[in-house]
Amino acid sequence: MRRNALSIVLGLCFVLSYSLGQSAPCTLTDHAEYSKKIKEYTTESFFSTELVDHLPYSSCVPAPDAFLHHIIGAPDVLDYTKDINAYMRLLASKSPRVKVFSIGNSEEGREMLAVVVSDEANLAKLDHYKEITAKIADPRGLSEADAQKLISEGKPIYWADGSIHSPETGAPEMLMELAYRLAVEETPFIQKIRKDSIVMITPIVETDGHDREVDIYLHHKKHPDDPPYPLIWWGHYVAHDNNRDNLGVSLALSRNMLKTFLEWHPTVMHDLHESVPYLYIMTGTGPYNAWLDPIVISEWQQMAYYEIEEMTKRGVIGVWTHGFYDGWAPNYLLSIANNHNAIGRFYETFGNGGADTRVRTLRPADTNREWFRPNPPLPKVKWSARDNINMQQSAILFGMNNVASNGWQFLHNFYLKSRRAVEKGHKEGPAAWAFPADDPRPGEQAAFLNLLEVQGVEVHRIDKEIRIPGPPEREAPAAAKRPAASEKPAEKAEEKKPRETVLPAGSYIVRMDQPYSRLADMVLDTQYYSSRDPRSYDDTGWTLGALRNLKTVRITEMSVLDQPMKKMGRIEVAGSVAGQGKIYLIDHNTDNTLATFRFRLARVAMEAAEEPFEADGVKFKAGTFVIRSADRDQLERAAKELGLKVHATNSALSVATHPLAAPRVAIIHNWQNTQNDGWFRIAFEEQKIPYTYVADTKLREAADLRSQFEVIILPPMGGGGAAGLSAIVRGLPMRGNPMPWKNTAETPNMVAPGLDSTDDIRGGLGFAGLAHLEQFVRDGGLLIAVQTSASLPVAAGMTEMVNVADARTMQAPGSVLLSNIDDKKSPITYGYDDQLYVYFRQGPVITITSFGGGPGGGGGPAGDDAGARSSGRGSAADPDVIQGRSYIAPERPVKRSPHEQELYVQEDLRELARWALPPRNEQPRVVLRFAADKELLLSGMITGGNEIAEKPAVVDVPHGKGHVVLFANNPMWRNETMGSFFLVFNAIMNFDHLDAGRTAATGTAVTQTAGGEEEEE
Ligand SMILES: [Zn+2]
Repeated sequence: MRRNALSIVLGLCFVLSYSLGQSAPCTLTDHAEYSKKIKEYTTESFFSTELVDHLPYSSCVPAPDAFLHHIIGAPDVLDYTKDINAYMRLLASKSPRVKVFSIGNSEEGREMLAVVVSDEANLAKLDHYKEITAKIADPRGLSEADAQKLISEGKPIYWADGSIHSPETGAPEMLMELAYRLAVEETPFIQKIRKDSIVMITPIVETDGHDREVDIYLHHKKHPDDPPYPLIWWGHYVAHDNNRDNLGVSLALSRNMLKTFLEWHPTVMHDLHESVPYLYIMTGTGPYNAWLDPIVISEWQQMAYYEIEEMTKRGVIGVWTHGFYDGWAPNYLLSIANNHNAIGRFYETFGNGGADTRVRTLRPADTNREWFRPNPPLPKVKWSARDNINMQQSAILFGMNNVASNGWQFLHNFYLKSRRAVEKGHKEGPAAWAFPADDPRPGEQAAFLNLLEVQGVEVHRIDKEIRIPGPPEREAPAAAKRPAASEKPAEKAEEKKPRETVLPAGSYIVRMDQPYSRLADMVLDTQYYSSRDPRSYDDTGWTLGALRNLKTVRITEMSVLDQPMKKMGRIEVAGSVAGQGKIYLIDHNTDNTLATFRFRLARVAMEAAEEPFEADGVKFKAGTFVIRSADRDQLERAAKELGLKVHATNSALSVATHPLAAPRVAIIHNWQNTQNDGWFRIAFEEQKIPYTYVADTKLREAADLRSQFEVIILPPMGGGGAAGLSAIVRGLPMRGNPMPWKNTAETPNMVAPGLDSTDDIRGGLGFAGLAHLEQFVRDGGLLIAVQTSASLPVAAGMTEMVNVADARTMQAPGSVLLSNIDDKKSPITYGYDDQLYVYFRQGPVITITSFGGGPGGGGGPAGDDAGARSSGRGSAADPDVIQGRSYIAPERPVKRSPHEQELYVQEDLRELARWALPPRNEQPRVVLRFAADKELLLSGMITGGNEIAEKPAVVDVPHGKGHVVLFANNPMWRNETMGSFFLVFNAIMNFDHLDAGRTAATGTAVTQTAGGEEEEE
């Protein structure tokens, strides 16, 4: 019996060395009643260890049950954030080994904590230990001897955090017991952790979502006959994706955790997740992130295998590693640590979305023996909340003990990784990344550089121009095009004479000889994810310079590091009103603050120039804001705050303009999953663009949507295909009683300002809602439908000549792709250059066809498989000869642009086309088009990319008096795609003038004779 030794130790009565000023010393005994219940709630002995099968009782420090009135892991109970935080504060007030720090609030105002547990002596010197880890984290100027001294003196910090994912409810409970146990237990094992390390605990990362989940769980327990509520909102904005925010850092939890990391520099950051049986310890399948120091890859393995071995030795079943996740993308919460030279890791235990005890049946995929799972979970087992607590707590205690026992090694590795990151600029390179001062989007440039600063990355500026030998290595789409695959590199090099890279004065430099060089390089570089590698777990590409449409220059020349430059703090773009005159012009550069400006001065009449023009010798792009009468002071205030350059002129403008609107926008959500709309809400709120958050079920009741809104946005909702559409129309089943989503005494946390409420979440959009949307467009509204939602207006008959389909064989699991502006006169493209990198994930494939509906069908030779021919004489390219009749030469294929192919109508069908096709001004207008297959991929992975190559990315389709705009790419994804935000903002502000520039652009496609003439050549 493995627990004997420890129970003997615990049977003894300890006289503790502290007494908190009380006269009676604290005593420690076994908390028999608690320990008995642990045993009762543990379903199998192989789901426990001697570390957690009991709890000590302290006469000074209250155990969890004294405060919560239940033991941790008791069936059918969960605790709210305020109670968990209160218990942690109670611990801190009663134990000199616990301190509690507030690390900030959630969006809805719930507090996040860092609970620090260590020896009294360590806690007395906390600032000193924080200073040590800070110095090791930035070893510049530190002598080797000094570094060694700090490492020997320092204590590793182990940061455990629970429940970033709200249905994963075990960790917040477990972490209360863990904090108590670490504070009071007197076994050598626990003493070691306390003495030789500092444990930090954040019991709940997503506090808003946690409380909503507890509401729903407890409500269901009280009303077991009613269908359980779905967790419609986890956090205020996004659900599971709150774990994908460490590139955008747009959620309060990401900011709070990042700030806390940079204050403490924990050696290990450990996220506690719950999904797969019974305990998965992260290492990942690979490919591992290619920018991390290989040392950390070893550390993941070492730590995982140590814990697996310790658990397995004790007969615990189903502890494993490797599978489940890849280790590639750097955007998870734990990445905060990996991205900053520390160790980021996680567990997945077998949670159960609450505290039920249930028989759980597993699929063979979870129970098969594999090399990485020699001791797999069982096909069927009774599983309890306490089992979950036991598994999590035992394993993380082994992890903490491992780090405390090998503190020198862990701190030394942290130092090495930090030092090697500083050496990166000179060793592996690149030397630096530059952000040229002539970037046309200074606002977006500053916003991104400020984000790097938030991440702890230093940004410098050069005051004088510098010239670097060699051509610029750019990621800016409009600049140097990548060589086509057919061109041999050698030829290419000969063709181009070596040039200089000129960085104008005022350019920003991100040096690669700083502690967080790897993070900066990782987000700016391009990613190549091989299709030979295991299937990716998440996005495969994320190049932020490209997704934000910024110029970035990768510099390998070391001399750049010797150039004089100045370290920056927060970067502000200077805004101003220059020149004299009554007309104010603001060039359209797609800086997102332009949209902020339009909506801030909603009452000021503004126009958009429909063509490029010149005024006072200055060139302005199509889309330039023209303000003919305004209060100069008011403009100046806004311009300064938003960093906009306003040009005042008295010149007579001859360019055509149309009014630029600040319309009423609705963002639609359903009552099943609000994740994707959350990223849209964040984008709108950050740009301070007002919107109304409207439920699909509300659309059923709103007969006259056009009187309420000018623009309605359908963010990606649910899956594509017929079943996906069906789910949008049907919504939650209309079975049982109405299901209100409201704050009540039983569910006080379901709604917060900015979220939605209703008397009944069932029923979806319905046919009535769909009809109202169609009427809205016909009445002159703009419907923007993104990604999986793009099929809705197509299936509902709001578009002609458009088909939306799922990809057949293409794999594009979240990549950065190149697109070309296909229609430079469309207001949706105002301010853009010729090309734009966009985020694309798997679909849909949008096609335009003049006849028929199928992808690739109809448009003459367009749909043919190139190179395919029937068996016969000659080579693949030769004409066949049919025997026994005169030879007729085949028609030669005619070269047409994708645009021409889409609208081409064969000679013999033109009569039919006269009535079958809409008139020219009602045909779909391809605004943005994916690049050709060879140029398509910048970052990530795509196979079978020819399915979307040269296919529309953004299409504008007139319907009645209004428009439908379809997006195949997601323009507002995880707050990483600032470069494509303005496609949406342009559409909104020009919603009633989307036909501007149309005639000239589409022209003669349907009735052209050019194709016919070419055929006869
Ligand atoms: Zn999770």
